[in-house]
Amino acid sequence: MAPRSQPPVTLLVLGAGGDLTRRLLLPGLATLLTAERDRRVRVVGADRSDLSATEWASRVEDAFGSVDAPKAVTSRVLKDTAYTPADILDHDSLASLVASCGDGPLVVFFALPPPVTMRCCELLAEVDLPKVTRLALEKPFGTDGRSAREFNALLHRVVPESEVFRIDHFLGVNTVLNLVGLRFANRILQPVWSRDHVERVEIVYDEDLALEGRAGYYDGAGALRDMLQSHLLQVLALFAMESVSTLDAEELHEQKNQVLRATRPWGRSAAKAARRARYTAGRLGRRSVPDYTSEEGVDASRNTETLAQVTFEVATNRWAGVPFVLRSGKALGTPRKQIVVTFRDVAHLPGGLRGAEGPDTLVIGLKPGSMELTLTMNAEGDPFDLEQKTLTATLAPPRMQAYGEVLGQILDGSRLLSVEGASAEECWRIVEPVLRAFAKGTVPMEEYAAGSDGPDGWLPAAPSST
Ligand code: NDP
Repeated sequence: MAPRSQPPVTLLVLGAGGDLTRRLLLPGLATLLTAERDRRVRVVGADRSDLSATEWASRVEDAFGSVDAPKAVTSRVLKDTAYTPADILDHDSLASLVASCGDGPLVVFFALPPPVTMRCCELLAEVDLPKVTRLALEKPFGTDGRSAREFNALLHRVVPESEVFRIDHFLGVNTVLNLVGLRFANRILQPVWSRDHVERVEIVYDEDLALEGRAGYYDGAGALRDMLQSHLLQVLALFAMESVSTLDAEELHEQKNQVLRATRPWGRSAAKAARRARYTAGRLGRRSVPDYTSEEGVDASRNTETLAQVTFEVATNRWAGVPFVLRSGKALGTPRKQIVVTFRDVAHLPGGLRGAEGPDTLVIGLKPGSMELTLTMNAEGDPFDLEQKTLTATLAPPRMQAYGEVLGQILDGSRLLSVEGASAEECWRIVEPVLRAFAKGTVPMEEYAAGSDGPDGWLPAAPSST
C-alpha cells in the first residue's frame, strides 16, 4: 500500500452508469476500503446520461450496500465523490472532464464498450494529462493477436506500458494468488513440480450458472474467449512459471510470459486438442433452462460454444510432455472450480502391498478455497492393505473481493496483479489456432443437457468432489 501521506488518487470511471461499474467496480472498491480503512480515494463518475449528484450518490451507496460496507466507509466516499455528464467521444468534453480531476495522481478506468474505449484512447492521446496518469482496462484486450497488438500500440500513445493496468480479476482471487506461496514456500512441493513427477494438470472452471442476462456479451465471445484465453491461461502461467527472486511485478510478468511463450495446443494440432459443446434444455437446481440457442439475445448462426476444453503443452524443460487440460463452461450440474495435479505412479510397488488403486493427487480448490492431497496409505485393518485417503485444508474466506485486491494495486501504481501487454498478445497467439479450427468446423459442436456434467468422455472424472 502507498504511504497515506501521498495525495489521494482520483479514480475517474468512464462509463459509470454501466453494468461493470455497478456489479464489480464499486462493490470491489467498497470491500477494498472496508479492509483498508485509511486508504483515501476520490471517485469521479462520468457517463453520457444526465445524472444528478444525488442520483449518482445513491448508486454508489447501493453498490457499497450490496457488500455490506460499514456506514463510515460509505459516508467517507460519498463526501468526496462527483459525477460529470460527458460525451467521452468529444475531445473538448473529455479534456475538461480530465482537467476537473486536478493535478494529483489519476486512474482512468474504462468501463466502456471496447470500441468506445479505443476511440476514447485516441482522444486521450491528445489531451493534457496529469503527470501520474494510469489507465485501467477490463478485457477483452483485443479479439485476436493482431488487434491486441494494435490496441497495445494505441494505449502506448497515451501512457507508457508501466502505467497500463489490464485487469483480470482472477489475478486478485486469493486462491489463485495462493499458488505463489504454495509453490515457492513449500520444500515438499518444489522437487515434484515438474514433468519428472507430474502426469497431468487440469485447470477447470465449470459454472452452474447459465447466461444470467448477459447474452449480449457472451454470445459474441463463448467459453474459449471468455474463460480459457484470459483467466485460465493466467492461472496456468502462475502454476507453471519458474521462481521469482522477489515479488516484483516486472519479474513476475517475465516469468509468466516465458510460460505463455512456450504454450501451444497439444500435439500442435488445435483440432485434436480442443473440444467444444453447447447446452441444451435442462434444469439447474429448481430452474429450467432453455436450449442455449433459444435464450434471449442469442444468435444461433454464431455457433457459440458454452463449454470448451483444450489440452495444451508447455514446451519447456520443466513441463514438456505434461498435458495441461483447461476447461470451462456454463450451465453445468457440478460447479467444479479447481486445479487437479495428478502425480506419476511410483516406479515400483513392493510385492505384497495390496489395494493401491490410484495416483497421488493434489486438488487446489479455486472456489471455495481448499487444498486436498490424496495419498495411498493404510487406514485400518491389515497394515499392508492400502487405500487412498485425502488430507484436506480449507482456506479462510478472502479479505475482500478479487476486484478490490486488483484495484488496490492499481491505485498504488503496482502492476503485480495486472496483465502485461505482451502477455495479452501471447494469450491470443495461443488460442488463435483453436479459434481457426472452431471457425472452420474441424472441431465438432457437441451437446450436453443443462444441469449435466457435460458431454460424456471429456475430462476423466475428478478425484475429488469439490
Ligand atoms: P455497459 O454497456 O453496461 O456500460 C457502458 C457504459 O458506457 C454505459 O453506461 C454507456 O452509456 C457508457 N457510454 C458508452 N458510450 C459513451 C460515450 N460516448 N460517452 C459516455 N459514456 C458512454 O458495459 P459493461 O459495463 O458491461 O462493460 C464495460 C466494459 O467492461 C466492456 O469493455 C466489457 O467488455 C468489460 N467487462 C464487463 C463485465 C461485466 O460484468 N459487465 C465483465 C468483464 C469485462 P449508455 O448506457 O448511454 O450507452
